[in-house]
Amino acid sequence: MRKKIVAGNWKMNKTFEQAEDLLYDISELLNGEKLNEAEIIVCPPSLYLEVATDVASEEKCFHVGAQNVSNFEFGAYTGEISAPMLKSMDVDYCIVGHSERRKYFNETNQMIAGKIDMLLKNNLSPIFCCGEVLAERKAGNHFNIVKKQLEESLFNLDAHNFGKIIIAYEPIWAIGTGVNASPEQSQEMHAFIRSLIEKKYGKEKAENTSILYGGSCKPSNAHELFANPDVDGGLIGGASLKAKDFVDIALSF
Ligand code: PEP
Repeated sequence: MRKKIVAGNWKMNKTFEQAEDLLYDISELLNGEKLNEAEIIVCPPSLYLEVATDVASEEKCFHVGAQNVSNFEFGAYTGEISAPMLKSMDVDYCIVGHSERRKYFNETNQMIAGKIDMLLKNNLSPIFCCGEVLAERKAGNHFNIVKKQLEESLFNLDAHNFGKIIIAYEPIWAIGTGVNASPEQSQEMHAFIRSLIEKKYGKEKAENTSILYGGSCKPSNAHELFANPDVDGGLIGGASLKAKDFVDIALSF
């Protein structure tokens, strides 16, 4: 059966001390709760991955993910961080294809495919983001856009490697705007994504793939979003910066 997952994407936020406080606050709140089997992943800025994996191994209540990875393995790529480096820091997950990286850093579906290959080769699980802008939804083109993202970045994988992927459907118009997709809109897209997986890899793979929702998810709407049969949790931006909000979302299944 597929996993329920709540992952926090801190983006480029927090100083070192604030990051450390947030990690300990999250652990303290999580340790007091029964989490209904949900897996919790914290994705801080790369500079704080070491402290995050230290806290994770002390407290054993969350996993650690990076927010980005290079599509190169080693070498003269100033400023980049590679998959073997992440693995050597005990990082287990990595977000790829976030809409902010597509928009501000010109990441294409093909580049994202390269990053995914690099992560899989180094035994890290990709959290693959997909989603449409508002104009694409208004034009009724959102299904085609998401299909193309999946086909060009994921569907070249063999079934074994595809089994390590977590998908996050993040309508771009919902990210950081305070306007979340409705439970009906998210369920419709998640069911569509699962149907594409089924066509490509078969029913069992489709049933076992976790598909998260991301975009203005907060404690007040998480329950109704996660109650959908094809929504297996969330990728949380803004609300992951407050320990209580993040943990309340993790308790929303
Ligand atoms: C995100 O950036 O992945 C995200 C979901 O952001 P927010 O929750 O702030 O909309």
